[in-house]
Parts: sequence; structure tokens; C-alpha cells
Amino acid sequence: MSSIYSYRKDLELVDIRSFEEIFSYEKEGTVVLYSFMSFDLEAVVDELKKLKKSGYMVVAGGPHATAMPQQLLNLGFDYVFVGDGEENIRKFIDGKFPENRIYDGITKRVVLSDYPPFCPEKSLYMPIEITRGCPFSCGYCQTPRLAGKLVRHRPIEQIVEYSKIGVENNRKIARFISPNSFGYGSKNGVTPNPEAVDTLLYNLKKVGVEEIYFGTFPSDVRPESVNEEILKVIKKYVNNKYIVIGAQSGSERVLEMIKRGHNLEEIERALSLLKEYDFIPRVDFIFGFPFETDEDIEKTFEFIKKIVNKYKAKVHAHTFMPLPGTPLANIGPGVLTKKHYKFLGLLTSQGYLDGYWLKQEQLARRVADVNSSSPI
Ligand code: SF4
Repeated sequence: MSSIYSYRKDLELVDIRSFEEIFSYEKEGTVVLYSFMSFDLEAVVDELKKLKKSGYMVVAGGPHATAMPQQLLNLGFDYVFVGDGEENIRKFIDGKFPENRIYDGITKRVVLSDYPPFCPEKSLYMPIEITRGCPFSCGYCQTPRLAGKLVRHRPIEQIVEYSKIGVENNRKIARFISPNSFGYGSKNGVTPNPEAVDTLLYNLKKVGVEEIYFGTFPSDVRPESVNEEILKVIKKYVNNKYIVIGAQSGSERVLEMIKRGHNLEEIERALSLLKEYDFIPRVDFIFGFPFETDEDIEKTFEFIKKIVNKYKAKVHAHTFMPLPGTPLANIGPGVLTKKHYKFLGLLTSQGYLDGYWLKQEQLARRVADVNSSSPI
């Protein structure tokens, strides 16, 4: 396994807390790195203008950069990184620049274990990314485009090795990043591999991790991946009472349109098992797809009432955002109706619902503007 320790000792990596702090660094030899979501574009461009005016080199990576690299070059970024960044950022630092100023981390994906999951030397700790890549193609999601469709798992030994470093530095809580944590160690990213998960969680405890959060944000779970074997395993180790599970709609028609790859029966099967194993299902729903009919909305509300009553589920609500680079990028922003406000407001007041759905309604309009004003 290679490590950033052995890479470049002359490199100083700084995690900036405020924008103004950047200007305390000389422009010569400083590179400002951005990774951001599409709805933050406006704010980032404001900062970019100030940085360029002061002569800094500015580069971008992450979900929006992967979806719209040329747009970012046109806006003034010096270089853009799409897809996996680990290998390309090293090329950049070594002065190897591509002619078109776009570093391609999509056609050549990295092996996760060749790179550390975080940088303890600079006190940059993160939840550990245990799996990258998702084989599904949900129409609203940027992940398969950013991370690829091929499922790549970080080896258990490396996760444990870095968690141990974390523990030695008083980071005793383990959280993970995965598009589907119950698929960790599996060939297809979906069918659970309980032995792998057991070995992972057992060894984390062994090196001194005191609390484990698995199957919660940002390591959510697909309904198909919930089975008795995996629940028995995680029950032994985890501190979370909730499991975050993606449903997204209570209408079969909408599930098909957004290409979720599961139906309502599969969601209920998963919720029933979660209840049996004494986990509270925290279920993600997306509201306001522009193609939703009144009937779809009613079906979703009925389904939510059912799962709240029958499985004691909590709802995590989102408003649809047409993210660039996704199949649903050009259908317009999510639209909430009076019915949505009434129903979601009621569930919120009863303590069954949370989420940033109101804020996301505004963000969705901003994202739609980004799509329509794109210069590419
Ligand atoms: S929503 Fe989840 S399952 Fe669907 S494509 Fe995105 S990461 Fe994969």
C-alpha cells in the first residue's frame, strides 16, 4: 500500500476554515482546490473571481466538476479533475499537465488500496470510504458517474490499519462512506457478504474503536441488501439504532421511471426485517419529481402512512434536484404542491419526518438554472 507519507514531504496540505484565510498564503506556490456540489456553483464562482483576480491557481474536482468540466474551465478554473482524483492529483503536483486541462479519472479508475483513505499526518480525518462505485443507475444520482459503476471495496486490513491510526489520535468513532454499506465485500455490491462485514467490524473493535456507525449516513443501505445474516452481524457491533434505507417513492410507476431497480414489496420486506431486529428504519423519499401525477403523490403518501404505522419508520425527506450529468438533469426542478406542504408539515409536527426538503426546493431551482445556463 502506498501512502501520502512517502509521497512529497515538501507539500503542505491545508484545510481552510474560511475563504479569507486563503489570502494569508502567497499566491506563488499555492493551489486552491475546490470540490463542490452543483447547487454551490454560484457561491464558488464568486470566490473563484476573487482568487483569479489575486493571481491564485484554482482547480476543481468532485460531483459538479465531473458532470461539467468544460463549463468550469470556461468559468476560469485552471484545471478540472473528473472521476477519481487520487492518481491525477499526484500527476498535477508533479507538473504533468494534460493538454485540454481536464484530468481524466473516469476512463482510468484507481485501485482504492493504493491510496490512504484520509491524511492523519495533516490531521485530516474523514469517515472511511469502504466502497466506491455503484452498479445501479438511479436517474437522479451523480454517484455512478462520479465513482463509476464498477464496485471497488477497500480491503479490510487497510480500513483497520487507518482506524488504528485514528484511535491512536483519539478518533474512536468509526463512520463509513459507501453507496450501500450492506454490500461491503460482495462481488456485485448488493448481495451481502456477512463474513467480510463481521471480520471488518470485529477488527475495528479489536484496535480500540469504541463506537461504530454502519448503515447510517453516509453509508446508507439498499432494500435488497437487507437480510437476516447481515442484520445478525451488525447487531453485535453497531451503536446506531437507525438504519438509513433508500425507498424514494411509494409509487411503482415512479420507481420504474427513476430506475431504482426495486419495488415496494422489496422495501417492505427490508423494513419488516429491520423492525424484527429492533432497528428503526429511517427511509429516504424524494418528493416533487416534475413527472409525478396526483395519483403518484397520493400513493406515496399512503405508502408512508403504512410504513410509519406498521414498521415504526421515520421519513427522511428530500426535494428532487435535477443534478447535472444525471439522466434526469433536464426535466426541471422539483416542484412541491400544497398537498406536499400539508402532508410533510404534518409528519414533521408529529416527529415522523425530517430532512432539508424545504431548502432543497430552492436549491433545486438553482441547480436547474445551472443546467440551463451551461455553456457546454
Ligand atoms: S441512489 Fe444509491 S443505489 Fe442509486 S445510483 Fe445512487 S448510489 Fe447507487
